[in-house]
Amino acid sequence: MTRSELTIDLGAIRRNSKRLLEVLEGAELWAVVKANGYGHGALDVGGAALRAGASVLCVATVAEGLELRKEFPAARILVMGPTSTSREIVSAREAGLELVVSDNEIPEGVRVHLKLDTGMGRWGLSELPRPAVEVVGLMSHLASADCDPEYTETQIRRFREATEPYRHLTRHLANSAGAFGFPGARFDAARCGVAIYGLSPFGTAPADDGLEPALHWSSLLAQVRRLGPGESSGYGRRFVAERPTWIGIVPVGYADGFRRDMTGTEVRVEGEPRRVVGTISMDALAVELDRELPVGTPVTLLGDGVIAEDHARVAGTINYELVCGINSDPARSRRVVVDS
Ligand SMILES: *Cc1c(COP(=O)(O)O)cnc(C)c1O
Repeated sequence: MTRSELTIDLGAIRRNSKRLLEVLEGAELWAVVKANGYGHGALDVGGAALRAGASVLCVATVAEGLELRKEFPAARILVMGPTSTSREIVSAREAGLELVVSDNEIPEGVRVHLKLDTGMGRWGLSELPRPAVEVVGLMSHLASADCDPEYTETQIRRFREATEPYRHLTRHLANSAGAFGFPGARFDAARCGVAIYGLSPFGTAPADDGLEPALHWSSLLAQVRRLGPGESSGYGRRFVAERPTWIGIVPVGYADGFRRDMTGTEVRVEGEPRRVVGTISMDALAVELDRELPVGTPVTLLGDGVIAEDHARVAGTINYELVCGINSDPARSRRVVVDS
Protein backbone atom coordinates (compact mmCIF):
# COMPACT_ATOMS: atom_id res chain seq x y z
CA MET A 1 0.00 0.00 0.00
CA THR A 2 1.45 3.37 -1.01
CA ARG A 3 0.63 6.85 0.22
CA SER A 4 -1.26 7.77 -2.95
CA GLU A 5 -2.21 5.05 -5.38
CA LEU A 6 -4.14 5.77 -8.59
CA THR A 7 -5.68 2.81 -10.34
CA ILE A 8 -7.14 3.25 -13.82
CA ASP A 9 -9.48 0.49 -14.96
CA LEU A 10 -9.43 0.18 -18.74
CA GLY A 11 -12.35 -2.26 -18.54
CA ALA A 12 -14.48 0.57 -17.15
CA ILE A 13 -13.32 2.90 -19.95
CA ARG A 14 -14.36 0.26 -22.50
CA ARG A 15 -17.74 -0.33 -20.87
CA ASN A 16 -18.44 3.41 -20.69
CA SER A 17 -17.48 3.75 -24.37
CA LYS A 18 -19.83 0.90 -25.28
CA ARG A 19 -22.57 2.50 -23.22
CA LEU A 20 -22.10 5.76 -25.14
CA LEU A 21 -22.13 3.94 -28.48
CA GLU A 22 -25.47 2.41 -27.47
CA VAL A 23 -26.85 5.81 -26.46
CA LEU A 24 -25.62 7.39 -29.70
CA GLU A 25 -27.71 5.01 -31.83
CA GLY A 26 -25.45 4.95 -34.86
CA ALA A 27 -23.57 8.24 -34.49
CA GLU A 28 -19.81 7.88 -34.04
CA LEU A 29 -18.15 8.17 -30.65
CA TRP A 30 -15.19 10.54 -30.58
CA ALA A 31 -13.27 10.15 -27.34
CA VAL A 32 -12.03 13.37 -25.74
CA VAL A 33 -8.70 12.73 -24.00
CA LYS A 34 -7.41 16.29 -23.54
CA ALA A 35 -5.63 17.29 -20.30
CA ASN A 36 -3.99 13.87 -20.08
CA GLY A 37 -7.33 12.14 -20.37
CA TYR A 38 -8.96 14.27 -17.65
CA GLY A 39 -6.11 13.23 -15.37
CA HIS A 40 -6.61 9.51 -16.10
CA GLY A 41 -3.78 9.11 -18.67
CA ALA A 42 -4.47 9.98 -22.32
CA LEU A 43 -2.54 7.10 -23.87
CA ASP A 44 -4.15 4.37 -21.77
CA VAL A 45 -7.63 5.82 -22.08
CA GLY A 46 -7.24 6.60 -25.79
CA GLY A 47 -6.19 3.02 -26.52
CA ALA A 48 -9.07 1.54 -24.54
CA ALA A 49 -11.62 3.86 -26.18
CA LEU A 50 -10.35 3.02 -29.67
CA ARG A 51 -10.54 -0.70 -28.90
CA ALA A 52 -14.11 -0.22 -27.70
CA GLY A 53 -15.13 1.41 -30.99
CA ALA A 54 -14.35 5.14 -30.72
CA SER A 55 -13.49 6.54 -34.15
CA VAL A 56 -11.46 9.64 -33.30
CA LEU A 57 -9.39 10.91 -30.36
CA CYS A 58 -9.88 14.59 -29.50
CA VAL A 59 -7.42 16.82 -27.66
CA ALA A 60 -7.05 20.53 -26.98
CA THR A 61 -3.51 21.25 -28.21
CA VAL A 62 -1.21 20.20 -31.03
CA ALA A 63 1.36 19.04 -28.46
CA GLU A 64 -1.24 16.70 -26.94
CA GLY A 65 -2.03 15.41 -30.45
CA LEU A 66 1.66 14.73 -31.19
CA GLU A 67 1.98 12.68 -27.99
CA LEU A 68 -0.96 10.53 -29.06
CA ARG A 69 0.36 10.18 -32.60
CA LYS A 70 3.54 8.45 -31.32
CA GLU A 71 1.40 5.76 -29.69
CA PHE A 72 -1.36 5.52 -32.31
CA PRO A 73 0.15 5.83 -35.80
CA ALA A 74 -3.12 5.15 -37.62
CA ALA A 75 -5.75 6.84 -35.41
CA ARG A 76 -7.67 9.94 -36.40
CA ILE A 77 -6.70 12.70 -33.96
CA LEU A 78 -8.56 16.00 -33.77
CA VAL A 79 -7.06 19.10 -32.14
CA MET A 80 -10.05 21.09 -30.88
CA GLY A 81 -8.30 24.17 -29.52
CA PRO A 82 -7.00 27.05 -31.59
CA THR A 83 -3.74 26.50 -33.46
CA SER A 84 -1.77 29.66 -32.97
CA THR A 85 1.52 29.38 -34.81
CA SER A 86 2.50 28.34 -38.32
CA ARG A 87 5.04 26.03 -36.71
CA GLU A 88 2.20 24.16 -35.00
CA ILE A 89 0.36 23.86 -38.30
CA VAL A 90 3.45 22.38 -39.94
CA SER A 91 3.86 19.77 -37.20
CA ALA A 92 0.13 19.00 -37.28
CA ARG A 93 0.35 18.45 -41.04
CA GLU A 94 3.41 16.22 -40.72
CA ALA A 95 1.74 14.15 -38.01
CA GLY A 96 -1.57 13.91 -39.85
CA LEU A 97 -3.55 15.64 -37.13
CA GLU A 98 -6.91 17.23 -37.94
CA LEU A 99 -7.47 20.82 -36.88
CA VAL A 100 -10.41 22.93 -35.78
CA VAL A 101 -10.56 26.32 -37.42
CA SER A 102 -12.62 29.19 -36.02
CA ASP A 103 -11.84 31.87 -38.61
CA ASN A 104 -11.57 32.11 -42.36
CA GLU A 105 -7.91 31.17 -42.55
CA ILE A 106 -7.84 27.59 -43.70
CA PRO A 107 -4.39 25.96 -43.49
CA GLU A 108 -3.43 23.90 -46.53
CA GLY A 109 -2.76 20.20 -46.54
CA VAL A 110 -4.50 19.51 -43.21
CA ARG A 111 -7.94 18.07 -42.62
CA VAL A 112 -10.00 20.86 -41.14
CA HIS A 113 -13.19 21.08 -39.07
CA LEU A 114 -14.89 24.46 -39.19
CA LYS A 115 -16.27 25.62 -35.89
CA LEU A 116 -19.48 27.57 -35.82
CA ASP A 117 -20.53 29.52 -32.75
CA THR A 118 -24.16 28.59 -32.13
CA GLY A 119 -24.28 30.10 -28.64
CA MET A 120 -21.23 29.10 -26.63
CA GLY A 121 -19.84 32.60 -27.09
CA ARG A 122 -16.24 31.47 -27.10
CA TRP A 123 -14.48 30.14 -30.23
CA GLY A 124 -16.28 29.88 -33.53
CA LEU A 125 -17.43 31.59 -36.70
CA SER A 126 -20.68 33.46 -36.45
CA GLU A 127 -21.49 32.47 -40.02
CA LEU A 128 -20.42 29.49 -42.05
CA PRO A 129 -18.49 30.30 -45.26
CA ARG A 130 -18.65 27.92 -48.22
CA PRO A 131 -16.29 25.21 -46.98
CA ALA A 132 -12.88 24.98 -48.68
CA VAL A 133 -11.61 21.61 -49.98
CA GLU A 134 -9.63 20.99 -46.78
CA VAL A 135 -12.82 21.02 -44.73
CA VAL A 136 -14.01 17.56 -43.72
CA GLY A 137 -16.16 18.47 -40.73
CA LEU A 138 -18.49 21.08 -39.30
CA MET A 139 -18.85 21.47 -35.58
CA SER A 140 -20.15 23.58 -32.76
CA HIS A 141 -20.14 23.25 -28.97
CA LEU A 142 -23.06 23.18 -26.53
CA ALA A 143 -22.99 25.67 -23.66
CA SER A 144 -25.54 24.20 -21.28
CA ALA A 145 -26.65 20.71 -22.28
CA ASP A 146 -26.40 19.73 -18.59
CA CYS A 147 -28.77 22.42 -17.34
CA ASP A 148 -30.76 24.36 -19.96
CA PRO A 149 -32.79 22.27 -22.44
CA GLU A 150 -34.38 25.27 -24.13
CA TYR A 151 -31.08 26.97 -24.94
CA THR A 152 -29.63 23.64 -26.05
CA GLU A 153 -32.52 23.07 -28.48
CA THR A 154 -31.88 26.55 -29.89
CA GLN A 155 -28.23 25.70 -30.44
CA ILE A 156 -29.18 22.40 -32.08
CA ARG A 157 -31.62 24.17 -34.42
CA ARG A 158 -29.07 26.85 -35.36
CA PHE A 159 -26.46 24.18 -36.08
CA ARG A 160 -28.86 22.06 -38.13
CA GLU A 161 -29.99 25.01 -40.23
CA ALA A 162 -26.49 26.39 -40.83
CA THR A 163 -25.01 23.01 -41.77
CA GLU A 164 -27.98 21.60 -43.73
CA PRO A 165 -26.46 22.51 -47.15
CA TYR A 166 -23.30 20.58 -46.26
CA ARG A 167 -24.66 17.26 -45.15
CA HIS A 168 -21.86 15.47 -47.02
CA LEU A 169 -19.43 16.76 -44.35
CA THR A 170 -19.16 15.17 -40.90
CA ARG A 171 -21.32 17.20 -38.52
CA HIS A 172 -20.60 17.01 -34.79
CA LEU A 173 -22.13 19.00 -31.97
CA ALA A 174 -22.77 16.95 -28.81
CA ASN A 175 -20.57 16.55 -25.76
CA SER A 176 -21.38 13.93 -23.08
CA ALA A 177 -24.41 15.80 -21.72
CA GLY A 178 -25.69 16.40 -25.24
CA ALA A 179 -25.23 12.73 -26.16
CA PHE A 180 -27.34 11.57 -23.21
CA GLY A 181 -29.91 14.32 -23.10
CA PHE A 182 -30.57 15.39 -26.70
CA PRO A 183 -31.12 12.87 -29.50
CA GLY A 184 -31.27 15.79 -31.93
CA ALA A 185 -27.70 16.79 -31.03
CA ARG A 186 -26.13 13.53 -32.14
CA PHE A 187 -25.71 14.21 -35.90
CA ASP A 188 -22.79 12.15 -37.30
CA ALA A 189 -20.56 12.03 -34.21
CA ALA A 190 -20.45 13.10 -30.57
CA ARG A 191 -17.31 14.32 -28.81
CA CYS A 192 -17.55 12.69 -25.40
CA GLY A 193 -15.09 13.25 -22.59
CA VAL A 194 -16.33 13.10 -19.06
CA ALA A 195 -18.68 10.11 -19.58
CA ILE A 196 -15.86 7.97 -21.01
CA TYR A 197 -14.22 8.17 -17.59
CA GLY A 198 -17.43 7.12 -15.89
CA LEU A 199 -18.09 10.59 -14.53
CA SER A 200 -21.49 12.20 -14.76
CA PRO A 201 -21.91 15.20 -17.08
CA PHE A 202 -24.82 16.21 -14.86
CA GLY A 203 -22.98 16.10 -11.51
CA THR A 204 -25.25 13.29 -10.32
CA ALA A 205 -24.42 9.65 -9.57
CA PRO A 206 -22.70 8.14 -12.65
CA ALA A 207 -24.62 4.87 -12.20
CA ASP A 208 -27.85 6.77 -12.98
CA ASP A 209 -26.61 7.04 -16.58
CA GLY A 210 -25.12 3.55 -16.71
CA LEU A 211 -21.57 4.83 -16.19
CA GLU A 212 -18.81 3.31 -14.10
CA PRO A 213 -16.00 5.46 -12.65
CA ALA A 214 -12.65 4.30 -14.03
CA LEU A 215 -10.44 5.90 -11.42
CA HIS A 216 -9.72 4.51 -7.98
CA TRP A 217 -7.63 6.59 -5.58
CA SER A 218 -6.45 5.12 -2.32
CA SER A 219 -4.17 5.85 0.58
CA LEU A 220 -3.81 4.67 4.17
CA LEU A 221 -3.85 5.79 7.75
CA ALA A 222 -0.27 6.88 8.40
CA GLN A 223 -0.99 7.88 11.99
CA VAL A 224 -3.88 7.35 14.38
CA ARG A 225 -4.25 9.50 17.45
CA ARG A 226 -6.70 10.35 20.14
CA LEU A 227 -7.56 14.00 20.72
CA GLY A 228 -8.79 15.07 24.12
CA PRO A 229 -11.54 17.69 24.46
CA GLY A 230 -10.19 21.07 23.30
CA GLU A 231 -7.33 19.55 21.30
CA SER A 232 -7.14 20.31 17.61
CA SER A 233 -5.70 18.90 14.41
CA GLY A 234 -4.19 20.85 11.53
CA TYR A 235 -3.58 24.43 10.45
CA GLY A 236 -5.77 27.14 11.87
CA ARG A 237 -7.26 24.79 14.46
CA ARG A 238 -10.34 24.41 12.31
CA PHE A 239 -11.12 21.08 13.95
CA VAL A 240 -11.28 21.06 17.72
CA ALA A 241 -12.41 17.88 19.48
CA GLU A 242 -15.39 18.40 21.77
CA ARG A 243 -15.05 14.98 23.34
CA PRO A 244 -12.34 12.32 23.18
CA THR A 245 -11.99 11.67 19.43
CA TRP A 246 -9.94 9.26 17.35
CA ILE A 247 -8.53 10.78 14.18
CA GLY A 248 -6.50 9.26 11.38
CA ILE A 249 -3.90 11.18 9.42
CA VAL A 250 -3.82 10.35 5.69
CA PRO A 251 -0.63 11.40 3.88
CA VAL A 252 -2.41 12.98 0.89
CA GLY A 253 -3.13 16.68 0.54
CA TYR A 254 -3.86 19.43 -1.91
CA ALA A 255 -0.50 18.95 -3.69
CA ASP A 256 -1.85 15.53 -4.66
CA GLY A 257 -5.13 16.99 -5.83
CA PHE A 258 -7.16 16.48 -2.67
CA ARG A 259 -8.35 20.06 -2.70
CA ARG A 260 -8.23 22.33 0.29
CA ASP A 261 -11.94 23.10 -0.10
CA MET A 262 -12.95 19.45 0.32
CA THR A 263 -13.04 19.57 4.13
CA GLY A 264 -16.27 17.88 5.21
CA THR A 265 -16.42 15.42 2.34
CA GLU A 266 -16.52 11.68 2.98
CA VAL A 267 -13.89 9.09 2.19
CA ARG A 268 -13.96 5.45 3.21
CA VAL A 269 -11.81 3.90 5.90
CA GLU A 270 -11.94 0.11 5.87
CA GLY A 271 -14.95 0.57 3.60
CA GLU A 272 -16.88 2.75 6.11
CA PRO A 273 -17.76 6.37 5.26
CA ARG A 274 -15.68 8.79 7.35
CA ARG A 275 -15.64 12.57 7.35
CA VAL A 276 -12.59 14.64 6.40
CA VAL A 277 -12.08 17.15 9.21
CA GLY A 278 -9.93 20.22 9.73
CA THR A 279 -7.83 22.08 7.22
CA ILE A 280 -6.47 19.95 4.40
CA SER A 281 -2.78 20.66 4.12
CA MET A 282 -0.37 20.21 1.24
CA ASP A 283 0.61 16.66 2.13
CA ALA A 284 -1.96 15.48 4.66
CA LEU A 285 -5.58 15.35 5.64
CA ALA A 286 -7.38 14.14 8.75
CA VAL A 287 -10.41 11.86 9.06
CA GLU A 288 -12.59 11.41 12.09
CA LEU A 289 -12.72 7.77 13.23
CA ASP A 290 -15.12 6.01 15.56
CA ARG A 291 -12.41 3.95 17.22
CA GLU A 292 -8.72 3.23 17.24
CA LEU A 293 -7.53 1.61 13.99
CA PRO A 294 -4.12 0.26 13.07
CA VAL A 295 -1.67 2.34 11.08
CA GLY A 296 -1.77 1.11 7.49
CA THR A 297 -5.56 0.75 7.39
CA PRO A 298 -6.66 1.40 3.76
CA VAL A 299 -8.45 4.65 2.92
CA THR A 300 -10.42 5.10 -0.29
CA LEU A 301 -10.39 8.66 -1.58
CA LEU A 302 -12.20 7.87 -4.86
CA GLY A 303 -13.85 4.70 -6.14
CA ASP A 304 -15.80 1.91 -4.43
CA GLY A 305 -18.74 4.21 -3.86
CA VAL A 306 -16.75 7.38 -3.17
CA ILE A 307 -17.68 9.51 -6.17
CA ALA A 308 -16.02 12.63 -7.58
CA GLU A 309 -19.45 14.23 -7.92
CA ASP A 310 -19.88 14.24 -4.12
CA HIS A 311 -16.41 15.67 -3.47
CA ALA A 312 -17.04 18.32 -6.14
CA ARG A 313 -20.32 19.37 -4.52
CA VAL A 314 -18.54 19.90 -1.19
CA ALA A 315 -15.82 21.93 -2.91
CA GLY A 316 -18.29 23.99 -4.96
CA THR A 317 -16.79 22.79 -8.21
CA ILE A 318 -17.38 20.12 -10.85
CA ASN A 319 -16.08 16.55 -11.16
CA TYR A 320 -14.12 17.64 -14.29
CA GLU A 321 -11.94 20.09 -12.35
CA LEU A 322 -11.40 17.66 -9.54
CA VAL A 323 -10.04 14.80 -11.64
CA CYS A 324 -7.93 17.11 -13.83
CA GLY A 325 -6.23 18.26 -10.64
CA ILE A 326 -5.18 14.84 -9.36
CA ASN A 327 -1.41 14.64 -9.36
CA SER A 328 -0.10 11.50 -11.07
CA ASP A 329 3.54 12.57 -10.92
CA PRO A 330 5.45 9.42 -9.87
CA ALA A 331 7.19 11.43 -7.16
CA ARG A 332 3.78 11.87 -5.51
CA SER A 333 1.80 8.78 -6.41
CA ARG A 334 1.92 5.28 -7.77
CA ARG A 335 -0.13 4.78 -10.91
CA VAL A 336 -1.49 1.36 -11.77
CA VAL A 337 -3.37 0.35 -14.89
CA VAL A 338 -5.70 -2.64 -14.68
CA ASP A 339 -8.15 -4.19 -17.10
CA SER A 340 -11.14 -5.74 -15.42
C1 LIG B 1 -13.88 19.17 -23.73
C2 LIG B 1 -14.74 19.21 -24.93
C3 LIG B 1 -15.70 18.22 -25.18
C4 LIG B 1 -16.01 17.11 -24.18
O1 LIG B 1 -16.95 17.54 -23.23
P1 LIG B 1 -17.51 16.53 -22.09
O2 LIG B 1 -18.48 17.35 -21.37
O3 LIG B 1 -16.33 16.14 -21.26
O4 LIG B 1 -18.10 15.38 -22.79
C5 LIG B 1 -16.39 18.26 -26.38
N1 LIG B 1 -16.18 19.25 -27.27
C6 LIG B 1 -15.28 20.25 -27.05
C7 LIG B 1 -15.11 21.31 -28.07
C8 LIG B 1 -14.55 20.27 -25.88
O5 LIG B 1 -13.68 21.27 -25.66
